[in-house]
Amino acid sequence: MKKSNSNFDPNWCSVGRAQCFIGNEWVAPISGATIELKNPSSGEVICNIARGGADDIDRAVDSANAALAREWGRLTAPERGRMMFRLGQLVLENTEQLARLEAIDVGKPLTQARADVLALARYMEFYGGAADKMHGTTIPYLDGYTVYTLREPHGVTGHIIPWNYPMQIIGRSVGAALAMGNATVLKPAEEACLTALAFADLAKQVGFPAGALNVVPGLGAEAGAALSVHPSVRHISFTGSVGVGKLIQSAAAQNVVPVTLELGGKSPQLVFDDADIAAALPFLVDAGIQNAGQTCSASSRILVQRGVYDEVLEKMAQRYSQLRVAPAMDDLDLGPLISARQKEIVESYLAKGADLETAAQGKIEDDVPIGGSYVKPTLFASVSPGHVLAQEEIFGPVQVVIPFSDEDEALAIANGTKYGLVASVWSANGARQMRLAKKLQSGQIFVNNYGAGGGVELPFGGTGLSGHGREKGFEALYGFSTLKTVATLHG
Ligand code: ADP
Repeated sequence: MKKSNSNFDPNWCSVGRAQCFIGNEWVAPISGATIELKNPSSGEVICNIARGGADDIDRAVDSANAALAREWGRLTAPERGRMMFRLGQLVLENTEQLARLEAIDVGKPLTQARADVLALARYMEFYGGAADKMHGTTIPYLDGYTVYTLREPHGVTGHIIPWNYPMQIIGRSVGAALAMGNATVLKPAEEACLTALAFADLAKQVGFPAGALNVVPGLGAEAGAALSVHPSVRHISFTGSVGVGKLIQSAAAQNVVPVTLELGGKSPQLVFDDADIAAALPFLVDAGIQNAGQTCSASSRILVQRGVYDEVLEKMAQRYSQLRVAPAMDDLDLGPLISARQKEIVESYLAKGADLETAAQGKIEDDVPIGGSYVKPTLFASVSPGHVLAQEEIFGPVQVVIPFSDEDEALAIANGTKYGLVASVWSANGARQMRLAKKLQSGQIFVNNYGAGGGVELPFGGTGLSGHGREKGFEALYGFSTLKTVATLHG
């Protein structure tokens, strides 16, 4: 049986210390409590992490507040930007270390983890460059007045993130908040938080002042809940499940603070008879199985027009039967799911699909560790749009293929779930591309490609149960700042 923890160095960036990062110091949680962090590839314990509580969140928020009043709050926008550039550079210099950490912790194949490191560095570059480009405006008004607006940070921002893409989500959320001059408190997921800790350590190394970035690992119901109701937190960004998203929104309502919620989806790709099938094929499958399907913007529904249905299904099935599942460090197509619990959830959906036509499944390598959470990627065919597998987010490597006859039917099916995060249209018909881009209810639309969330430059977020608010791109900077109007009567 393979061992999967061999590449873990607990001393690197202090990630194995079971501590919180508060005010640029590594500190034990006040309760002294810890949580075992497991390697999804093997089920082995990687290390213990801090089980931060409400009292640790209080310390972190105090430290962030102090930072705003001290050095961090006094930095100019170009100085913040320069610091973020340096951090991006240091992230790149540590690509291999960070990628290995993410692969061990999340269970994602090493190549995918390397892409996440690059994305984190890109966020630092993008938002570092944007820090000094967000400005107010002057507004023509009554005679004798000069009116202008100031774009200002909220203050302390809270960031509650999931386990599937820690580095990418830190980049888009904490990165945008820091660029605008907020001081941040990050609560990473209890299932995977090592790169969050490493990131904090790297930030300290490049000179981020104490309190600009604080990290409190812990359980959702403890540290997460405490952060979401903390009266001094002025904005909360959350990526995770719909159920917890609702809790976060109600918690934020108690203090009347804005929230950004990104809650996943059931994102469709629409393949028309006139599509370039060869070009579409890698996107159709990869967008469903990337990170073992544990991606908010995974494409879990493939809608195919009847004229090319058999061809598309056959080619997707061929690709599925070649997919190989193995420990993250083996770097094959898919790694394990994050946990035994997630495996149970996905298997329960597979059981609900027992009445469906299974077009193909991938293969789990013979020698995977018994304690790993492996499932076979599965492609279901001829699925009716109302089937539970075509309606609910599974968060595993499961895709359904749904036939349709014409554009109207495709649109109705595509818009026929409670979600709306990403959609794509595969067609050579320009008018159809334009029509559907307008009519699809979704935060992002890709035409003849599928970006699974897209680059750091592209605003991202959903409608319906997928959430609200936009992250990524310049748009995020509006969410992480507030506008003040100044009207001076001078005669
Ligand atoms: P998943 O089901 O994919 O693990 P969750 O929505 O449960 O997603 O978790 C996403 C993040 O939200 C994690 O950091 C988790 O600790 C946190 N979380 C879970 N429950 C709560 C809660 N009640 N309040 C605040 N944060 C929470």
